[in-house]
Amino acid sequence: MKVLFATSEARPLVKTGGLADVSGALPAALREIGVDCRLLLPGYHAVIAGAGNQREIARLNDLPGFGEVRLLEARMPDTDVPVYIIDYPWHYQRDGGPYQDASGHDYPDNAWRFALLSRIAALLATPLSPLEWRPDVLHCNDWQTGLAPAYRHFIGGGAPTLMTIHNLAYQGIFPPDLVGPLGLPASSFQVEGVEYYGNLSFLKAGLYYADWISTVSPTYAEEIQTSPLGMGMEGLLASRRDRLTGILNGIDMADWNPSSDLHLPCEYSARAPSGKKRCKLALQQDLNLEIDNDTPLVGVISRLTYQKGIDWIVAIAERLVADGAQLAILGKGEAAIEQACLALAARHPGRVASVIGYDEGLSHRIEAGSDIFLMPSRFEPCGLNQMYSQRYGAVPVVFATGGLKDTVEDGVTGFVFTEPSVDGLWRAVQRALSLYHDKPAWRRLMQAGMQKDFSWEASANQYTWLYQLLVLAH
Ligand code: ADP
Repeated sequence: MKVLFATSEARPLVKTGGLADVSGALPAALREIGVDCRLLLPGYHAVIAGAGNQREIARLNDLPGFGEVRLLEARMPDTDVPVYIIDYPWHYQRDGGPYQDASGHDYPDNAWRFALLSRIAALLATPLSPLEWRPDVLHCNDWQTGLAPAYRHFIGGGAPTLMTIHNLAYQGIFPPDLVGPLGLPASSFQVEGVEYYGNLSFLKAGLYYADWISTVSPTYAEEIQTSPLGMGMEGLLASRRDRLTGILNGIDMADWNPSSDLHLPCEYSARAPSGKKRCKLALQQDLNLEIDNDTPLVGVISRLTYQKGIDWIVAIAERLVADGAQLAILGKGEAAIEQACLALAARHPGRVASVIGYDEGLSHRIEAGSDIFLMPSRFEPCGLNQMYSQRYGAVPVVFATGGLKDTVEDGVTGFVFTEPSVDGLWRAVQRALSLYHDKPAWRRLMQAGMQKDFSWEASANQYTWLYQLLVLAH
């Protein structure tokens, strides 16, 4: 099985979100089980600088609207996964991030930049490809590669396409007058095509033309078929539900392993958990919290946005403290939420600590030092922190949505609440706090979470099964 995995970001070369984690880990996990998976990435500065063993393998001169494009072959750092790089400095070698300039504005030519990525992805999956290596399946990810299934469709022939949704909120919406210049037939600009409320949507194109659609958890695959979580795409997604699958993401079990985590002051594991206590005391000291092993320490690591339900956490914080718990928040995001977190810490010195910023090391230490981990997201396609926290024995309290519902077992590895409100969260937290004082029961809960297998292997097996289905049905 040969798979071309087209993506706009991949760890460790370039990352803005969860897509990069998946793109860094899944192709490697697929190769482990015998799938010849290769990446296709734009040649941003960081990609050209970081990918090893680069050599030119083709020059493309006949892409309408573009000059000469070089195609390089290279290897990903760490994993050695083969990667094809689109070397087109005019579009990709810029000083800002992959989608935005240094001051946070979208590049004005993003439609062209990601049409090129999509176009080359489609080309490599058809008999017109200049390469000998030809994928059996073209795996596209998010709006940046959304036009690839459309281009592949209009070229006719070639590999079947899978479109994976990692973030439905970004839909790649551009003015309708780009349809022709980007090489799409005028007839595709309709509801049964790339049109979306009068505009061109790259994501819609992918969802419409792909042979199959997947997203990153089974529950989210259901939720996006209705409003509001379908974010305007619910009608299309519901109409394609027989070709819509949810496959959970895995986590990097080596990076997130409390028995070998170099960020921690002390290692521990499900079998030898005593080091967790030292991690907790060190965290309390680090964050100027009162040092006391018997005080339940509640952790939060999150982008500070409405999606993540941080306002619910702020709303229960006083009650948490009154009940004798401590709260440690690490996050960055909307200014008003940042301010609310800082104000809480100022009101409760020694009981609440808020660190505003992005700090990978501290995120590991909070997972290790916390007894309870809050993640009351209003929606969550998959989510990672609830998996990390189970592995680190920080028992998660989550809202029953998306990947949170699929990865946390209520009363077995954590607490899952079903009423989306402050009270819903508070009742679940109360259940957690009262069980915390029942030491044997708490230990069972922690250990059940710590022993769960969140490795990429299970996901890779499910993707392989889906690829096989696509090839057979094609
Ligand atoms: P999302 O992708 O919606 O932000 P996830 O739970 O899927 O949520 O992934 C978030 C990732 O980012 C996790 O790896 C989490 O540990 C990390 N993270 C989020 N905020 C911070 C922060 N302020 N500092 C360090 N890591 C963070």
